[in-house]
Amino acid sequence: MKIAVIGDGIVGATVGFYLSKEKKHTITMFDYGIGQATKASAGIIAPWLSKRRSKVWYHLARDGASVINELATETGMTTDVYDQSGVIYLRKNDSDLQNLNQLGIERRKEAPLMGELNKLSSQSIQNLFPGFKIMDQGLYVSGGAKIDGAKFVEFLNKKSTFNDFIKEPVKLTLSSNRAVMVNNQRFDCIVLAVGAWLPDILKELGYKVKVRPQKGQLIEVKMNPKLDQHLPVLMPEGERDFIPQNNGGLIIGATHENDGGFDLKVSDQVKSDLLASGQRIITSLTNADIVNYRVGTRAYTNDFLPFFGSLTDGSNLLVASGLGSSGLTTGPLIGKLLSEIIEHKSVNLSYYTHSVSDYISLDD
Ligand SMILES: Cc1cc2nc3c(=O)[nH]c(=O)nc-3n(C[C@H](O)[C@H](O)[C@H](O)COP(=O)(O)OP(=O)(O)OC[C@H]3O[C@@H](n4cnc5c(N)ncnc54)[C@H](O)[C@@H]3O)c2cc1C
Repeated sequence: MKIAVIGDGIVGATVGFYLSKEKKHTITMFDYGIGQATKASAGIIAPWLSKRRSKVWYHLARDGASVINELATETGMTTDVYDQSGVIYLRKNDSDLQNLNQLGIERRKEAPLMGELNKLSSQSIQNLFPGFKIMDQGLYVSGGAKIDGAKFVEFLNKKSTFNDFIKEPVKLTLSSNRAVMVNNQRFDCIVLAVGAWLPDILKELGYKVKVRPQKGQLIEVKMNPKLDQHLPVLMPEGERDFIPQNNGGLIIGATHENDGGFDLKVSDQVKSDLLASGQRIITSLTNADIVNYRVGTRAYTNDFLPFFGSLTDGSNLLVASGLGSSGLTTGPLIGKLLSEIIEHKSVNLSYYTHSVSDYISLDD
């Protein structure tokens, strides 16, 4: 088949990877590199103790975490891309920690990737993180991981075989016999993995998409002394998350700004808010320690759930969007399932997502 993948974020890159493994398609990747979510993200893969109630989301996130782990092993991913360093959840209250531990024990029965669950005293956590002021005890989950979105895409692209990579914005049009054309070219199958830009691209074909942009910002700080790069991610209660990096520094974030639109400017107010969160845990931190900012645009839906599948029954146009703040966790599984739909494999979509028609309709 002649396949077009539009959008080289985590979804598109994973679709491209799995389809190239089949060695029987010609794949053209299109991306012109607008401020995508994946490139800005430094993410945490640890969905098991989430309080989200949606079962479809949990199935997708739990199985998504396993798919990334398998992908990392299969492709020999280096630890600057994906590092199963574990995560530590801090809790002020002993009974909250017990409840979290109990939930972990329950969920681990169907999610062996979670690994060990260990309660840690504030002192033992402080010993791990020099220069940090840790007042709370924590729960360590050994199977949690951190991932760098940009490096993940770059790594998978190198393991994929694309017939062409076209760095241009895509416009969809209809030919005289109503076939969908990608920049005036015809394909047997088209995958729209364009994140928050799905409403724009489908507007041309007369569709209305219930997806909105959400701005996310992170700061990167240098640490003295440098942190061990394999330290777990630290998730303090009521604060931002702290993600140790492989250069000895730390990422602090992220924000979830529903009114930020597609704006990619670093905002001073958010910068000070992220720094203040950092200073409550690392008292020596100052503005001068900030070495970088990352800003990205996530896509989100009214029910905060991702959706994916064929645009309409049997259509050769596949879509995925709405991955929100857990898209690094769910994206690779979504990409894998889309590639299986293209391969006509049987896929139990309702276990993982609601119908695409809940989110996309013809504009009247
Ligand atoms: C700051 C931040 C922190 C995050 N932290 C986490 C985390 O800890 N854990 C987690 O699981 N997730 C996290 N996420 C969420 C995750 O990064 C996203 O949900 C996920 O990357 C979305 O992937 P995507 O492939 O759907 O979209 P994107 O990564 O946005 O990719 C879409 C691509 O489509 C391209 N495109 C759009 N329109 C066109 C067009 N017309 N023509 C050509 N190309 C086009 C864009 O250039 C872009 O590259 C975070 C996100 C941000 C911003």
